[in-house]
Amino acid sequence: MFDNLSTKLDRAIKTLKGQGSISEINVAATIKEIRRALVDADVNYKVAKDVTDKIKEAAMGRDVLTAVSPGQLMVKIVYDELTALMGGEKQDITIKGDPAVILLSGLQGSGKTTFAGKLASFVKKQNRTVLLVACDVYRPAAIDQLKVLGEQIGVEVYSEVENKNPVEISRNAIEYAKKNNKKVVIIDTAGRLAVDEQMMREIEDVKAAINPSETLFVVDSMTGQDAVNTAKTFNDRLNFDGVVLTKLDGDSRGGAALSIRAVVEKPIKFISTGEKMDALDLFYPDRMAQRILGMGDVISLVERAQMQFDDEEAKRINAKIRKNQFNFDDFLSQLEQIKKMGNIKDLMGMIPGMSKAMKDVDIDDDAFKPVEAIIKSMTRQERANPDLINGSRKKRLAKGSGTDIQQVNALMKQFDDMRKMMRTMNKMSQTKGGMAQMA
Ligand code: GDP
Repeated sequence: MFDNLSTKLDRAIKTLKGQGSISEINVAATIKEIRRALVDADVNYKVAKDVTDKIKEAAMGRDVLTAVSPGQLMVKIVYDELTALMGGEKQDITIKGDPAVILLSGLQGSGKTTFAGKLASFVKKQNRTVLLVACDVYRPAAIDQLKVLGEQIGVEVYSEVENKNPVEISRNAIEYAKKNNKKVVIIDTAGRLAVDEQMMREIEDVKAAINPSETLFVVDSMTGQDAVNTAKTFNDRLNFDGVVLTKLDGDSRGGAALSIRAVVEKPIKFISTGEKMDALDLFYPDRMAQRILGMGDVISLVERAQMQFDDEEAKRINAKIRKNQFNFDDFLSQLEQIKKMGNIKDLMGMIPGMSKAMKDVDIDDDAFKPVEAIIKSMTRQERANPDLINGSRKKRLAKGSGTDIQQVNALMKQFDDMRKMMRTMNKMSQTKGGMAQMA
């Protein structure tokens, strides 16, 4: 899901690649692209404008850490804003009262009945006794559907086939729950094809009569802008507590997830991703933002880099690279920096496109030990002037570091290759952030 949006954002952010800092000039085009990508993903225009304005504000004049590229930093900024837009923190449903009553609302076909089953199964797993209530007085088939689901998950379903009054059915169901020791009552109400006055009044009456501890609005995420409008209509009448986004497994453009929260100011609490009873997830704004961005775990990478990378040191090393003076002392210092950032394999895995390639490669922090040992066996002159290291010195280094001549040769070759690459980079005058990206 969200492929469309994440690819577009990816492209927008790539325009920043290779830039040293985020400035008015280079950010304007990116912001425009991000806004277009959001609108294309069915995000409400006003919401898209608000969020991109905030992104721009957060990005302007930001000194780009040498440890991350401006593109990566931009991803982090976009991620922060998307997370905030979707509510920031995860929000739980309130299960309170004896029994606790949860009321479900939404249009027909939104996935309400399926969700009722999933929620019942979810609550049952918390070792609570549950009663499902079929309150669709218009479609007998809906009652049967709920009974099938109930049987599947081992939850009793309450219904009154002859009764056409949802308020009465709900009240009776709650009485039944009290007598039969059911601690949570989930009421599945009637859905219609379009919002209509009678239906709205009916569910308003049910809510007033039973005073649920949680009223949820269930909405099909594939309906895009309509989802936002329906959410608004239901919220005006019901003042619901939270939103359930269904069918996020489908070809949804994801805009609903982004704009509903902003428009109705109510949190999304669950997402439903399939027809199986266990395809229900709690909604975590930060995880959803990561999924939308679909960029590996760049976010954590940037966060860690921001926390730990010594920017001054990186600048010093970049200056040496520019002057073609990079030596083994600098190499060692870079290794220290990388090690400070945590487990090497984890770190590599956070780089988009890297995780798959890295899966079968066994790198652990020990991989650097022989390299460090060799460099530490060098004299000060050798470290500062690597060209001094000839055959006999290599033998001495191997012996001193407890490695062998092949390992010393490998390191020398790697170092030479790095210097060559740095020289080429210098020629292309692409210096800033270069070393850090290679590391
Ligand atoms: P209701 O009319 O609101 O009660 O909606 P239903 O629960 O009957 O769902 C309508 C259709 O959507 C059914 O065919 C469900 O199987 C399907 N459905 C419900 N939730 C999901 C979901 O999360 N993913 C997918 N792919 N289909 C769903």
